[in-house]
Amino acid sequence: MESLYDVLIIGGGVAGMTAAIYAKRRGKNVAIIERFALGGQVVSLTRIENFPSQSEIDGLSLSQMFSKQIKHLNVKVIFDDIIKVDFSDKEKVLYGGKGQYRAKSIIIATGLSSVELGKNENDFFGRGVSYCAVCDANFYKNQAVCVASKGGSGIKGALELAEVCSKVVVLDSEDMSKYASANKNPKIQVISNAEIKKVEGDKVVDRIVANVDGKDREIKTAALFVELGKKPKTDIYQNIIDLDDRGFIKTDSNMRTSVDGVFAVGDVRCGFLKQIVMACSDGAIAGQLA
Ligand SMILES: Cc1cc2nc3c(=O)[nH]c(=O)nc-3n(C[C@H](O)[C@H](O)[C@H](O)COP(=O)(O)OP(=O)(O)OC[C@H]3O[C@@H](n4cnc5c(N)ncnc54)[C@H](O)[C@@H]3O)c2cc1C
Repeated sequence: MESLYDVLIIGGGVAGMTAAIYAKRRGKNVAIIERFALGGQVVSLTRIENFPSQSEIDGLSLSQMFSKQIKHLNVKVIFDDIIKVDFSDKEKVLYGGKGQYRAKSIIIATGLSSVELGKNENDFFGRGVSYCAVCDANFYKNQAVCVASKGGSGIKGALELAEVCSKVVVLDSEDMSKYASANKNPKIQVISNAEIKKVEGDKVVDRIVANVDGKDREIKTAALFVELGKKPKTDIYQNIIDLDDRGFIKTDSNMRTSVDGVFAVGDVRCGFLKQIVMACSDGAIAGQLA
């Protein structure tokens, strides 16, 4: 029988880590369940200038300061991806790819996830397909890469990539002709009205098949960076917790959701201003009440 925690936190971004700090310091038996690595979105930020006490800091350094405190407080971190929940009883159950977890209170801190293309790109995830230009650009130094973009969503990533890659082809699904003609970066090529159909390659990405203005084209590339924006991934809570029409979790000002004993904090909830300080504030409130 798996142990019963006082508080289980889904997601180890800054919201989840702050919730853990507050819950742990109240003597609660608490664990964070994180599917990837502590830090969340902050890890990929190159420069943060509005986190109080730090005039300027890179995201990796800031997130390492958070995780150091988690370690110092002996908060248990479980690496698993929560794919199903059962909140029907007083004891809540979380189902991960690796196991089941039970707790009296749950804090959902799963932030935002990258919007996917919805083709076969995830077959090549980590083998040429990336969702983070800042994190992975260096793996493709002096190579040609592609960016999947919608209405200019990939331009910021393309500029980051152009710092190290030899060529960056932005495949935008909308009309980007104005941007393309104004673009002065010789490494960046913007193709409008491009529908990416398939990622191809043997073991790693080798080319992209895209329909451009009605014609299929093959574009040789070492990587595809999917830069289509972010959204809350809350489908597992549909019909269990109240969500707003964009999929954000509804809470009251104390981070309580529509289910007793379940809280939501940070970017995943329907709050104003998606910023680190707000995620920390939410986490502190839930960690104090859970
Ligand atoms: C480009 C960009 C620039 C930004 N710049 C700033 C800035 O300058 N200043 C500022 O204050 N804010 C900035 N932000 C916003 C800030 O990064 C976020 O508000 C903050 O990181 C939100 O933290 P979070 O903990 O709520 O979510 P996240 O950081 O998204 O963390 C969620 C965590 O949950 C994990 N997770 C998700 N689903 C599951 C699951 N099913 N099971 C287990 N784990 C799961 C994820 O792996 C992740 O680690 C920026 C954001 C972006 C995208």
